[in-house]
Amino acid sequence: MATRKPFVGGNWKMSATRAQSLALARLVAESARAHPGVDVAVFPSFPALVEVVGAIGGVGAERSGAVIVGGQDCSSHPSGAFTGQVSAAMIKDTGCTSVLIGHSERRHGLGESDAVLSKKLGMACENGLIPVLCVGETHGEREAGRADAVIATHLRGALAGHTEESMSALVVAYEPVWAIGTGRTATVKDAAEAHRTVRQTLAELYSARFAEQVRVIYGGSVNAKNAAEIFACEEIDGGLVGGASLIAADFSAIIVGAASRISTRGGF
Ligand code: PEP
Repeated sequence: MATRKPFVGGNWKMSATRAQSLALARLVAESARAHPGVDVAVFPSFPALVEVVGAIGGVGAERSGAVIVGGQDCSSHPSGAFTGQVSAAMIKDTGCTSVLIGHSERRHGLGESDAVLSKKLGMACENGLIPVLCVGETHGEREAGRADAVIATHLRGALAGHTEESMSALVVAYEPVWAIGTGRTATVKDAAEAHRTVRQTLAELYSARFAEQVRVIYGGSVNAKNAAEIFACEEIDGGLVGGASLIAADFSAIIVGAASRISTRGGF
């Protein structure tokens, strides 16, 4: 039986001011403290990172019940003349411990390629950040029967040139593009199949042992009502949540959903 610790992340996108982020963060921290068996993460906008880390993050000597705080993106460059970009080192310097890489709003909205994402992944890992790598197909790709091929291509492209050792902290978020922010979720069966594809690809790229240990989480309209059912699936190690993560009570219910995964499995 897998012994992967559930991971639940809230992607706040461009939706909260500093004050709103801080208020939300404090409520999330209460839920995280109540459920230490779940890794709880939040991804505020850049301007809010320092304050959120200061309030709830695990800076320095690890605070008990600390929340993982991460950036929503990092540059593919280490430093230099890249106006508007933020490096992985700068994110690390705020006290963050994680970063999202390749969210579909960046892949599709900003045209980020797998080659660029591979560099970002390298920057994240060099700076000791837990990379949450997002992969997933569009609706057209699923309809064309290409979902598994797209997932494998995303993984192979982003992980190109990276060793198993350097990817030891990797979390993969399977996020079908058509399910993000639409209220439509993948069926548990389809999500489980996609997660098996992720693990199979990781096993081919690295090793079966590595594939078994990496957390693969689902994202796409997870909410307070459907979380427990989705997370009950053996293949699904938690979720990346957008809209519902902005409502403290809903995100808390999603954390409870991930925690119930632990009790139904007999604990870690
Ligand atoms: C996301 O932004 O990664 C996401 C899954 O959004 P939502 O939960 O709103 O679909």
